[in-house]
Amino acid sequence: TAAEPALVIENLIAGYRGVPAIRGVNLRVDPGNILALLGPNGAGKTTTLLAAAGLLTPLSGTVTALGAPVSGRVERTARAGVSLIPDDRGLFHRLTVTENLRLAGGRDELDQALERFPQLRPLLRRRCGLLSGGEQQSLAIARTLMRKPRVLLIDELSMGLSPIAIQAILPTLRQLADETNLAIVLVEQHIDQALSIADSAVVLHHGSVALSGPAAALREDRQQIQRAYFGR
Ligand code: ATP
Repeated sequence: TAAEPALVIENLIAGYRGVPAIRGVNLRVDPGNILALLGPNGAGKTTTLLAAAGLLTPLSGTVTALGAPVSGRVERTARAGVSLIPDDRGLFHRLTVTENLRLAGGRDELDQALERFPQLRPLLRRRCGLLSGGEQQSLAIARTLMRKPRVLLIDELSMGLSPIAIQAILPTLRQLADETNLAIVLVEQHIDQALSIADSAVVLHHGSVALSGPAAALREDRQQIQRAYFGR
């Protein structure tokens, strides 16, 4: 029997002050899968994530998380297990790494987080604002995992990260999906790197889905993606 999808977005129209920024977006992620959400600046990637997290109320269409209708209901969405890491990562820069982690849970969760991200151990007493981009992103992911999400939405994963840090963090996400059945929606500017760990991809252009399919197929046809970026 097919597993229940982790996240389903159907015919979603959402935007700001009644003006649509995305129009008719459809996507689906299964547990343990990674979906790369791609597209040029202003295509509607962040808007899609905000709607998926329940932070934007759809003008129409639906968001379903683990079988529960959650459209526009931020608390219900969080309870269903959907967590968003925003592009600014939402960390408290004046607090230490430990303090940032403790805001998300107790000792047990913190220990589990450090097992998955051992690179944070020597940094625990460091102020978060003094960490590198890669360390901050690891902290943001570790902190979010302490809430035991079933769907993780990550906006602009690699913003402010060095190429080496990007290379280090992508396999961690793949492992998380494989080992914990977490579903991940990944907004990422580096198309090839995102496709290298993703199971599927959706390319947005001007608020609509220009292209979608299995990541393996899209890796084979880079030109198709190029055309989708230009809306052709
Ligand atoms: P980027 O990579 O630049 O973040 P994106 O694909 O995430 O791009 P969105 O941020 O979702 O795109 O923006 C989609 C459209 O919605 C854009 O035209 C943008 O100008 C508009 N928009 C985004 N945020 C707001 C807002 N708070 N108020 C009004 N319009 C907005």
